[in-house]
Amino acid sequence: MKVGEIMITIRSEREIDLLRKAGNIVYKTHQYLKPFIKEGITTIKLNELAEAFILKNNATPSFKGYEGFPYTLCISLNDEVVHGFPSTRTLKNGDIITIDIGACYKGYHGDSAWTYQVGNISKENELLLKHTEESLNIGLQQVKPGNRIGDIGFAISEYAKAHHLGVVKELCGHGVGTNVHESPDVPNYGKKGTGPLLREGMVIAVEPMLTEGSPAIYIADNDWTVITQDHSCAAHYEHTIVVTKDGYEILTGA
Ligand code: MG
Ligand code: MG
Repeated sequence: MKVGEIMITIRSEREIDLLRKAGNIVYKTHQYLKPFIKEGITTIKLNELAEAFILKNNATPSFKGYEGFPYTLCISLNDEVVHGFPSTRTLKNGDIITIDIGACYKGYHGDSAWTYQVGNISKENELLLKHTEESLNIGLQQVKPGNRIGDIGFAISEYAKAHHLGVVKELCGHGVGTNVHESPDVPNYGKKGTGPLLREGMVIAVEPMLTEGSPAIYIADNDWTVITQDHSCAAHYEHTIVVTKDGYEILTGA
């Protein structure tokens, strides 16, 4: 390896199968939680439900204990971008809630975040959710052997710009494997044709975090939760995918 070159693991078929199983447990946990995401439930209750569900599926929560993170889920409400702590706070009509789930199965991880609406949300928030989810799809469309990591971020940030949304730059996607966060970084901005080359068998999480207002953020007193400085709402959608011969396969989907 040359100086400055980064190590990106190419996964074997056997490993991809285990990553697929981990990803499917993450997907199923999202589906299991969905009916509970209603006005009146506490976010710590959602955390308890998810933890029990992950354990029942012979997996372990990837985030609990990761660099000292204390919970199974990251639950981020409204102006919280990522890494929110589950708490006794109850969901209210009009909230938007991002649930980020990681699960580890036989040593391999899956990682997927989704933003959900609680009851009826504002038109502005509806658009934020719609366009952030779409920006994930737009980014994923760039994933194929021969393209580069910068192509993904370029597509996401161009789409966000066209819809007048901010791109949080301090946080990014990442490789996924026997660690939940591996090389390479997958930023949500970039230049076309730059960055590491995508190759068949690479596994990455793509995860745009977009804001209604300024993308400037700060870290809360708990040293984890990332919040928008202007307190505008943020959304976050994430899939773990594997690069295939001619595109990609979503590992955290159905
Ligand atoms: Mg995540
Ligand atoms: Mg991630």
